Amino acid sequence: MSSPAFSLCIYCGSRPGADPAFAAVAERVGAWIGQRGGQLVYGGGRNGLMGIVAEATLAAGGRVVGIIPKALVEKEWAHQGCSELHVVDTMHERKRMMAERADAFLALPGGIGTFEEFFEVWTWRQLGYHDKPVGLLNTQGYYDGLMAFARSAVAQEFMNPWQMDLIRVDDDPARLLPELVQAAGLAPEARIEAI
Ligand code: AMP
Repeated sequence: MSSPAFSLCIYCGSRPGADPAFAAVAERVGAWIGQRGGQLVYGGGRNGLMGIVAEATLAAGGRVVGIIPKALVEKEWAHQGCSELHVVDTMHERKRMMAERADAFLALPGGIGTFEEFFEVWTWRQLGYHDKPVGLLNTQGYYDGLMAFARSAVAQEFMNPWQMDLIRVDDDPARLLPELVQAAGLAPEARIEAI
């Protein structure tokens, strides 16, 4: 089996959210990964947007690596259809493995779990712990408030403008996904004619 063209770590809600646009974009993201010979790395659950992105990746022929702490196997309904499902001992182990297995990170709409994961890879990037691209998919302006807050932190001099430049924020997955993969020095495979 050939190795995936790229490995994208997706953080997203364990709920579907109120607006059907969130589920629709999760499906688009998963399909994009699968159609281009990519691999999804994610939290391993079947709930919410997490399950949708995983299903869409698998349906489009992509690989899915799910990494879930054993305490959450039932709560988050571990996805037994993953190409690889890793049941790990702790949340720290999950996050470490997810970060190691990824070429780039992308957060979709989600709740506090998603926020925490996104902030961790953003802050680790500014500390130089990794140099992988970090993206935020701002579907329906979901993250407008968060970005406004971050800009106010810059204005209040608790953040530097260059820290904002470490993340790529876009509402269009068709722009953001290739940008992240290319920024990681990789190229999505041209398998799209099959779609
Ligand atoms: P949420 O965005 O709150 O729906 O959570 C999305 C995912 O983030 C779920 O799989 C949670 O298990 C996960 N999560 C919650 N807290 C953390 C954390 N501190 N580190 C990593 N993942 C987390």
